[in-house]
Amino acid sequence: MKGAFAVRLATLPRLLALVSLLTLAALTMAEALHWGYEGETGPDNWGNLSPDYALCAEGSAQSPIDIRDASELDLVPVRFAYGQTANRVRNTGHGIQVDVEGDSHVIYNGIRYNLLQLHFHAPSEHTIDGQAAAMELHFVHLDPNSDMLAVVGILLEEGDSDNAAYAPVFNNLPDEADLTLGSDDDLDLATLLPEMRRYFTYQGSLTTPPCSEIVRWLLLDTPVRLSADQIAAYTALYANNARPVQPLGDRDLLRDSP
Ligand SMILES: [Zn+2]
Repeated sequence: MKGAFAVRLATLPRLLALVSLLTLAALTMAEALHWGYEGETGPDNWGNLSPDYALCAEGSAQSPIDIRDASELDLVPVRFAYGQTANRVRNTGHGIQVDVEGDSHVIYNGIRYNLLQLHFHAPSEHTIDGQAAAMELHFVHLDPNSDMLAVVGILLEEGDSDNAAYAPVFNNLPDEADLTLGSDDDLDLATLLPEMRRYFTYQGSLTTPPCSEIVRWLLLDTPVRLSADQIAAYTALYANNARPVQPLGDRDLLRDSP
């Protein structure tokens, strides 16, 4: 494959820098503890694996959720300012992730959230009226002033043809944990977004331990389509890295008016 290469530990300092950016000591600790998606270390038991994960069992604003009966309101748009980033695709052991460099960000309600990384789940974590999509993409952004996150979610569904915008990632999926693959071509982040950016929003959590309740969720309601082959390339590595839906409770679930 032209331009392809592998990096195992060379990216470590940059990754550590990203983690420290989060300034979440609990998150750093949590990464060292073993958790998964099935059996004794699966989502039903995350809250028992470590005191640091207590919110996974006891939280009241957890994610993902089933999206239904959203209240329509005239909400501000999510303003995307996405540029290019080096195409470095990392297998974290929990999924596939691209760590983002540069100043890509979103502005939401007057707050700038810097894009840190994007990663994938299969099947989707959020469901709409009980229906899961084939996959879900999460763009994780941080407001460094508040340490709050804004995560933009995009449902990925099967279409008829390869999605060229996603090919740089899906042609370079690393097949073992801690392996990073890439290509010389930069990844054009804006091309990963759907044209229509109407969204659902609610206040929730990380969908992985430690399940911190620090996330403004912005789930776009227009899916992006990938080919069956692209989806299969991902699910060959991670057929199930989705947390089940959690109760909405008394939280507001809003959808912006068309
Ligand atoms: Zn995620």
